[in-house]
Amino acid sequence: MPSRQEYLDTCAEHGADVVRVTVSGHCCEKCAEWENRLLSISGATKGLPTVDEATAAGLFHPNCTHSLTEVDDYTREEVMRLDNLKFSDIVKECCEKR
Ligand SMILES: [Zn+2]
Repeated sequence: MPSRQEYLDTCAEHGADVVRVTVSGHCCEKCAEWENRLLSISGATKGLPTVDEATAAGLFHPNCTHSLTEVDDYTREEVMRLDNLKFSDIVKECCEKR
């Protein structure tokens, strides 16, 4: 199984920038708010927190069982439309913690 960074590199190589946090059966408090969220790999997609921001906010802590999976454009637009407000809240929160 490739590492998370290798997977992100592969996505970036074929021009994908948006990934989704998988839902894990063993979720911890820190990760719960990130489940099913979209993240931008490079920060190029406006309105989404980046993978780095999510990591800084507690996602992918040691022994974390979550991973990232690429999403297609349609899914991305649907989720962003429905969850736009929540995304802004998350970005705000992780900026405040720094
Ligand atoms: Zn986790």
